[in-house]
Amino acid sequence: MTDLRQHAVEIHEQFSETLDVSVDDIEDRLETLVSDYRVPIEEARRSVVSTYLDEAGMERDELSGGTSQEATVADIDAPEMWLDLTVKVVDLWEPRSDSIAQVGLVGDESGTVKFTKWAKSDLPELSEGTVYRLGNVVTDEYQGRFSIKLNSTTTIEELDTDIEVGDDTTEIEGALVDIQSGSGLIKRCPEDDCTRVLQNGRCSEHGDVDGEFDLRIKGVLDDGEEVHEVIFDQEATEELTGIGLEEAQQMAMDALDTEVVADEMRTTVLGRYYRVVGPTFGRYVLADEIETLTDAVDPDPVLIKARSL
Ligand SMILES: [Zn+2]
Repeated sequence: MTDLRQHAVEIHEQFSETLDVSVDDIEDRLETLVSDYRVPIEEARRSVVSTYLDEAGMERDELSGGTSQEATVADIDAPEMWLDLTVKVVDLWEPRSDSIAQVGLVGDESGTVKFTKWAKSDLPELSEGTVYRLGNVVTDEYQGRFSIKLNSTTTIEELDTDIEVGDDTTEIEGALVDIQSGSGLIKRCPEDDCTRVLQNGRCSEHGDVDGEFDLRIKGVLDDGEEVHEVIFDQEATEELTGIGLEEAQQMAMDALDTEVVADEMRTTVLGRYYRVVGPTFGRYVLADEIETLTDAVDPDPVLIKARSL
């Protein structure tokens, strides 16, 4: 069976109960994208699946994965993998939206991964420190970072065992003391799998390109003993500063200068105290979760005392 055919069969399996579509139809659509439009197969598959989801009026996480595979966290290297994982709940976070029942971090010996459990999936409550066998979870990707989604097809079985979770996340509490250059409104290379930040409109790999706007902050958190470099992606930057991508672009257009965005962000967040949780990536911590500890820019006697110890 060809690669395209295999993908078509898998997609067909996912929609066999909801849509009247043949494997040949699906293969034709994939073929057009891959051969005529030179779209990479994984992207073509995602696009075709999206089309059928629209036709079926379904959400992506309602899809059954066909057959899921036994895996470890370290095996996760693509979106839309359907997996069975045996993991321990390491941390639970406050959901940001009513549509999310639980969100947090799970892990096994090989590492940790963020998980999201949707409210509408109506699954049992997970407790911190407990090990579960999760059947049929689906992976997702956002800006190169992977997570797993527990969905309505997921099975959850509590196991009476413990796991020594591989530790690749850190938690830092401290004052945001600096925002480095390359923060605020930036442009990224649009080439597939590149996403490098452009310098004067140039990608170091692909030369002059028409970049895509993005938001990020490269910040420095001081926990009183040492400083940590932290990267906030677009979502985290918006949460931190209240400035979204559209607003940032408008600000830059009004001022004819992208730097105003970083300047405005500095005035909002510098000197405030945050708790940041996320994996380490080289010398950076990637901020998965942020909690504002104090809005006080004015000196707080307790914190100053703690910091001077
Ligand atoms: Zn590039």
